[in-house]
Amino acid sequence: MKKIKKTKIIATIGPSSSSSKTMEQMMLGGVDVFRINFSHAKHNEVKKTIKLIREIDKKLSLNTAIIADLQGPKLRIGKMEKNSSFNKGDKITINSKSQLVGNSKKLYVNYKNLAKDIKEGENILLDDGKIILKILSTNKRDLITAEVIQGGNIDSNKGFNLPNTKISLSPLTEKDIEDAILAIKEKVDWLALSFVRSKSDIEDLLKIIDQNSEYRIPVIAKIEKPEAVKNIDEIITVSSGLMVARGDLGVELESSEIPLIQKKLVAKAKKARIPVIIATQMMESMMESLSPTRAEVNDVANSVMDGADAVMLSGETSVGKYPLEVIKTISSIINKVENSNLISLANKRPKDKKSKRYITKSICFSAAKMANDIKAKAISTLTHSGYTAFQISSWRPSTHVLVFTSNKRILTQLNLLWGVKAFFYDGFESTDRTVEQINRIALDNKFLQKGDKVINLTSMPIDKKGMTNTLRISEI
Ligand code: PEP
Repeated sequence: MKKIKKTKIIATIGPSSSSSKTMEQMMLGGVDVFRINFSHAKHNEVKKTIKLIREIDKKLSLNTAIIADLQGPKLRIGKMEKNSSFNKGDKITINSKSQLVGNSKKLYVNYKNLAKDIKEGENILLDDGKIILKILSTNKRDLITAEVIQGGNIDSNKGFNLPNTKISLSPLTEKDIEDAILAIKEKVDWLALSFVRSKSDIEDLLKIIDQNSEYRIPVIAKIEKPEAVKNIDEIITVSSGLMVARGDLGVELESSEIPLIQKKLVAKAKKARIPVIIATQMMESMMESLSPTRAEVNDVANSVMDGADAVMLSGETSVGKYPLEVIKTISSIINKVENSNLISLANKRPKDKKSKRYITKSICFSAAKMANDIKAKAISTLTHSGYTAFQISSWRPSTHVLVFTSNKRILTQLNLLWGVKAFFYDGFESTDRTVEQINRIALDNKFLQKGDKVINLTSMPIDKKGMTNTLRISEI
């Protein structure tokens, strides 16, 4: 029988991974989702990359998903001369007006109101906090002077964080809107929004999706601001997924706060039955080295044990030296831990009996529970919207979740969800015939073998394509 991992791997595309050969090997090695990071991508390259991923994916019959990650109001420095560095005690100027090329004495940042919003004594963190500056003065128009508190080398376009400053930037920049429209036209599977602060940030993006597409592409809220952690309950009501974006979160907050925030966000996402991604510095040392640190191995394993749907690689696959080896290593960590009986996630039955989805939710919950009790090898579900896949996956059954759908838009989208594998299916003659056919597909794809039990969820009558209302157990 096929041994397929259930926790998904997201790989960020970049110069190290953009050739078709590397992408193909990454997909074969276990990448389930590619992330296109719009902070660094150009539109013509994005179009080529998406086309390439879809072509390779078709050749390999895999359903690889694509996330378009919008930069959001991320502050970044401009271009820097090669080998620029800051030393402790240096005084530098920060210009927010002219896009100058920076060096060891000056830099540009893409935030027009910076000199107005910032105050003397506040800190600036560059490159995920590697460099720390303290504001000495501001002319309140466009120029700031700062002292280097912690120095280091600095490259072009690195992040610029203001942990103590109240910034006055809109959640979706002009660039984000242009990038989102391109991504929507290219039919990506998910959009992710950076620096979300409140529910309305996600709603603004949903409006743009609705104006540009008949299909509502689901949105992942990247949680990387203290405000987002505070407003998480309202943000979850409009988000289809969460990302624990530990890079910026660890700059904006003390990094010691992150482990508990990660656990809290995973628990909230699971309760809302939406997928959750753990991101950043998972295998950071493998950007340069062929083996990860013990701490990194533990971090990936613990993220899986916390209940992550997916673990994400950023620099490791986009600019790192070993994009293929890192996939192999992270896959082997996942395979080692994800089926451990030490993992126990909260598993409470759905409560809201008045909700119109109560029957479906309840059936999905029972299927997950029963699958464990009777040691079934798979749960299959027929779905048009993907709703039942989100539900069953969130209950974390010990089986695979096999999703059968005639909706091509969700075939790749669902590949982000823990344990989910989707198949195209459009025969809806009768329940008996459908169950027989989907069990045959599962068998042919080696998710089942003779003698296995499988739980089939359907809706009767089958031709009405209504909500899931039937649970059946088949023996192959
Ligand atoms: C992060 O900050 O952890 C993150 C995922 O954001 P990005 O890589 O887009 O800066």
